[in-house]
Amino acid sequence: MKIIGITGMSGAGKTTVSEQISKSKNAKQINADKIAKELIKKGSKYYDEIVEEFGKEILQEDYEVNRKKLANIVFTDKDSKEKLDRLTYKHVVPKIKEEVEKNTDCDLIIIDAPLLFESGLNEICDITIGVIAEKKTCIDRIVKRDGINQDLACNRLDSQHNSNFFKMQCDYCVYNQNNSNIQAQISDILEGKNLSNKNVIHVYHEGFEYLQFRKLLEYQDKLKHCYTLKPLDVSNFELERDKVINSYKHVCNFLGLDEKNIYKPIQSHTDIVKIVENQEPGIHKKEFQDVDGLITDKKEKILSLSFADCNCLYFYDPVKNVIGNIHSGWRGTLKEISREAVKILKEKYKTNPHDLICIIAPSIRKCCFEVDENVKNMFYDKFKNNERIDEIIQKSKTVGKYHIDTQMINRVILEEEGLLLENIIESEICTSCHHDKLHSYRYEGETAGRNTSVICLV
Ligand SMILES: [Zn+2]
Repeated sequence: MKIIGITGMSGAGKTTVSEQISKSKNAKQINADKIAKELIKKGSKYYDEIVEEFGKEILQEDYEVNRKKLANIVFTDKDSKEKLDRLTYKHVVPKIKEEVEKNTDCDLIIIDAPLLFESGLNEICDITIGVIAEKKTCIDRIVKRDGINQDLACNRLDSQHNSNFFKMQCDYCVYNQNNSNIQAQISDILEGKNLSNKNVIHVYHEGFEYLQFRKLLEYQDKLKHCYTLKPLDVSNFELERDKVINSYKHVCNFLGLDEKNIYKPIQSHTDIVKIVENQEPGIHKKEFQDVDGLITDKKEKILSLSFADCNCLYFYDPVKNVIGNIHSGWRGTLKEISREAVKILKEKYKTNPHDLICIIAPSIRKCCFEVDENVKNMFYDKFKNNERIDEIIQKSKTVGKYHIDTQMINRVILEEEGLLLENIIESEICTSCHHDKLHSYRYEGETAGRNTSVICLV
């Protein structure tokens, strides 16, 4: 038996998602709202305590609680909401746990609870799924469902967590914008194709898929970012301009950014990091020829690079509010481009390395990055004196071949530059292993497309 906790924004369609999941298995659905509705009836302890707390004014003529009235009170007053939530956890949570106990013969138990985390119910779940949608969509649905006006619906949403909370807290998110694509998203989760992990959330948006890094989502008021998955593809700009521009349009639509502000250099495995200030934005502009890293402290300048296996490093200094986006393939890693980026941050922006966050996005990992003797020797010559050299280079099962850990090398460099261990965060996703979702040069060869990384101060 597996317990799935479903939570999310009001009006995002948790019930739709719960119902779809339950179709695919021998499942029992437990709906926290329904249980609360049952428990609140006249004569229960929950009822008595609610009346004691909120007074007889919330009762209807038949002495039952007027739930609409109660909802209007709690959604416009934080203290009242906290009081009601406390009573709800006290009475509803034990009842849900009782229901779970009664249904242990099911393959799947689905707990549908708006306050899954606050109530602590997430702790009994094997996985948690957050259901999210755009705010406007949620408002429209609440208006239609509960017969209240737009302002009230908006208040209700504002008193709750926004989509970023669920992206940060839940194991997975399902984006339920127009009830489309939900089954595909659920299948991905149940079949292990969804790439979310403790550092990464895999998000679906209007038919496209993105990764976001939970650590960077903590700074939602300061910056926006994502890493694209297939079928988005920014390869071959010179010959397939429309494809690339369209891909960027989708990315910018997802993040709410203006695609006119994209800076996308012509990368060529250098260690050159350029500061973006007041140059003309654009894709593959001459000014950004042979540039493999971008840094800026300017708002609304979208830093973007492309990848098919190479390491992508996002930098963020939350104190000085500076961002960086770095392309560190095996050649760039040998040239230590990540060290170059940190040096610029320290010198130009006075970044204290203890503040600096670095996210290492998906890239080819040691499992799949197998090289010949000559490439191995280049890494050996460069890093032979490092105490982690035995982890950086390992012999392959194939004679004369070696596996190189380029993430480890970047980690070593960043630690040497003073970054704290907890601020170097890896996606732990190998592009070659996950070639169904990510473009991988190693797996697909010359025809491989390109994933893109985007980061922008707002
Ligand atoms: Zn791999």
